[in-house]
Amino acid sequence: MSWRRALLRTFAVMVGPRPVVLSGPSGAGKSTLLKRLLKDYENVFGFSVSHTTRNPRPGEVNGKDYHFVTREKMREEIDAGGFVENAEFSGNMYGTSKAAIQAVQAQNQICILDIDMQGVRSMKRTDLNPIYISIQPPSIEILEKRLRDRQTETEESLQKRLNAASIDMELSKEPGLFDLIIINDDVDVAYSELKKILVEEIQKAQGSKKS
Ligand code: ADP
Ligand code: 5GP
Repeated sequence: MSWRRALLRTFAVMVGPRPVVLSGPSGAGKSTLLKRLLKDYENVFGFSVSHTTRNPRPGEVNGKDYHFVTREKMREEIDAGGFVENAEFSGNMYGTSKAAIQAVQAQNQICILDIDMQGVRSMKRTDLNPIYISIQPPSIEILEKRLRDRQTETEESLQKRLNAASIDMELSKEPGLFDLIIINDDVDVAYSELKKILVEEIQKAQGSKKS
């Protein structure tokens, strides 16, 4: 590699695309929007695969949707300093490992994270400087319907998620916490809004791949 190219690459990393955090209540549509983005911009975005102690849902793949682990294993890895952030949500542990973020950045892709409100607050204390986007449902009633229709939760887990959602919907109004709040009513409209805020980062990422 010539010195000029090496210099350009260093510069591209310095001003390179920022990670993207998607947050918001469970059932608001984060995975739906995220999967669409990953499909439409394959190679531009890379998903930060979190760890969780919850059980896999039908169709979820270990290492792709989550790293499904025991509480003991997760505790061990957190204590060893392997995590950027971790949180307790709805009776289970969730967390972003340093390795998950590094794996995406090593591919020169925009790292996209799906984390809860506690995760957002922890990320704000790091130097990762992500773009913070909150995905919100049009109402708690619609959220409940979506969660029920998804058929992934027991009644107990559903109630816990609805409680957490009410708190999330209130907290997300805090000025300056999120760069953008998207109300996911019509999924196509929500997706357009998401793409619009990310256009600059997408161009940066595509540009750095050409150089
Ligand atoms: P999250 O990842 O935030 O928990 P999901 O993406 O799993 O949420 O969405 C929850 C459920 O709602 C899924 O069954 C999904 O297909 C559905 N859904 C997502 N967005 C919409 C929308 N705009 N209108 C109707 N249903 C939606
Ligand atoms: P679910 O069980 O529905 O997949 O996720 C439940 C909640 O955990 C969601 O709000 C999701 O954003 C959050 N979550 C998933 N991974 C992480 C993570 O690594 N860290 C944190 N803090 N929250 C996470």
